[in-house]
Amino acid sequence: MKLPKVRELLEAIKSLSHRPYTSKFPFKPHQPYPSFRGQPKYDPDRCLGCLACEEICPAEAIAHEDKTSGDIPKRVMIHYTDTCIFCGCCQDACIADHEGIKLSNDWELAFFNRAEAFETIEKELQLCEICGSAIACKDHLKWIAEKIGELSFSNPTLYQSRLKSLGVVDEGIISASKDYSRADRIKILCARCRRETSLTTAPAPVAEEKGT
Ligand code: SF4
Ligand code: SF4
Repeated sequence: MKLPKVRELLEAIKSLSHRPYTSKFPFKPHQPYPSFRGQPKYDPDRCLGCLACEEICPAEAIAHEDKTSGDIPKRVMIHYTDTCIFCGCCQDACIADHEGIKLSNDWELAFFNRAEAFETIEKELQLCEICGSAIACKDHLKWIAEKIGELSFSNPTLYQSRLKSLGVVDEGIISASKDYSRADRIKILCARCRRETSLTTAPAPVAEEKGT
């Protein structure tokens, strides 16, 4: 018969006077260490909807959907909790001082239905005032305009966004015309419509024949 070693016997005796090394989970909630790298969480107030986190995510655990047809156009940012590997790249890449999405100490990820393993936030979108396509989130345009300061006055989309956010320009002003003209260049436009308004010239007026 193999006898227990003295060290193991001493450990067993000592453990009688120690508190258990394991926690009482699930009867008592587990408290992770403060530096624990749990699943990332969006902060809807800090996130700008810029999509840098989606671009950088190595697990393709972040996606977005632009909803342009409702009363308020929105970008929905989606984080898939079942495919996330908690690497923290999204937090590192976040342009909002790494606060738009942050690793939390939330570790409890059990779910019954995998189709429900996602979290979302919504950000208001800015649409092109001519074609109605999505340009960027309003907070993102405002952030860029503030970041580059007076240089934003070289870009009508940026300075108009800034003026609208300050309440200087009416939020509700949009173009009623679907035709391009050079006067449209000072509107909030997508890249395609800006190119069209810059390159397309109005047809020259037909000269009236003399005597008619
Ligand atoms: S922690 Fe990593 S895997 Fe998870 S969403 Fe962020 S970048 Fe993607
Ligand atoms: S602001 Fe940060 S969290 Fe929001 S979309 Fe951009 S990178 Fe992602």
